[in-house]
Amino acid sequence: MYAAYLERILAEKIARQAYRALRPSEGIDFCSNDYLGLARDRVFQQRIGAWIAAHQLSHGSTGSRLLSGAYPFLDEVEQYVARFHQAPAALIFSSGYMANLALMSAIPARGDLVLYDQFIHASLRDGLRMSFAHHRAFAHNDIQQVDELLKKRRERYPGQRIFVVVESVYSMDGDQPDLARLAAVCEQYEAALLVDEAHAVGVMGPRGEGLVTSLGLSEKCFARVVTFGKALGAHGAAILGSELLRQYCINTARPLIYSTALPPAALAAVYLAYQQIPDMHMQREHLQRLALCWQQQMKTREQFFSPIQVVRIPGNARVKACAQYLQAAGFDVRPILHPTVPRGEERLRIVLHSFNTESEVIALAQKLREWQEEPLHDEDDNR
Ligand code: PMP
Repeated sequence: MYAAYLERILAEKIARQAYRALRPSEGIDFCSNDYLGLARDRVFQQRIGAWIAAHQLSHGSTGSRLLSGAYPFLDEVEQYVARFHQAPAALIFSSGYMANLALMSAIPARGDLVLYDQFIHASLRDGLRMSFAHHRAFAHNDIQQVDELLKKRRERYPGQRIFVVVESVYSMDGDQPDLARLAAVCEQYEAALLVDEAHAVGVMGPRGEGLVTSLGLSEKCFARVVTFGKALGAHGAAILGSELLRQYCINTARPLIYSTALPPAALAAVYLAYQQIPDMHMQREHLQRLALCWQQQMKTREQFFSPIQVVRIPGNARVKACAQYLQAAGFDVRPILHPTVPRGEERLRIVLHSFNTESEVIALAQKLREWQEEPLHDEDDNR
């Protein structure tokens, strides 16, 4: 009975071309979130290893933060991270998923309203499912709509707490909201702005401090999430905000209270990466050149800097076939399928890195054009 149920669900996924299989990375990396190459940098990884050995750091934290998992290095790194992002305080979680669960489940409460961009990350949405607050999506990057929704709400419920949730670089689109305008709208209607900076940290801003800080908006955000598993090449995440917010989360955020703290050895990688990224100007500039090169190759109308570039190829079967074609040619490119993105919005997510070369980018674009120019891709389309 139980096995049959699992088999039926998987069979449905196969029929919808939405079955997922684990596949190790192979070929030229156009897929990982290791934007600056820190996770693959042998010398840097050896430095982390040596640092862990020199400081005799453990790979186990032995308990949650509120029990045996609190140790001084964790507080030190939190202060370091907070200063780096110009926030009063930081609270570290063992992943971005956990930080986002905490953010959305612990802060907005019954009677509050959460307005969120329709494309926010699954971890934020999952957090909302744990919250008793009302929530409502607004159209992607549509700040005019946020303005109208806030105006209406404020007229009807002047004292309601309202949270507005966005990403500063969208994980599946690579684009950005107009954060300055959004912050002004939130301020006007006394809404609290929450920003997930997972894909901006390390990459955006002159020192890799993310978009919020580089735009001078740190004080306009009620809370931010920064993650360590992407450009920082490590693991974990932090919620940034006031010291009051930090104390509040320590007391209420279930993903912090009921989970083992990030161990000291893992934190060493975070700490050393934070020391490294401010000086990685050359890598950031190279990334910008690559993004421009890709957009020129693709004749993209709208040009903006992002390490995440998107090629829409509607239909799970088609986008999978295209990715397989590129993979066979030696490029590690992954398809993003429905239901991760809305039906008809299936896409290749091309991730650029500081270690990719212009000739690799041009070769990938050429291969993609070859595939696009071949007739009859839709035969086996199974949307
Ligand atoms: N936020 C965004 C926007 C993400 O893309 C991701 C990971 N894909 C997360 C949060 C979760 O971070 P982590 O991988 O550290 O759990």
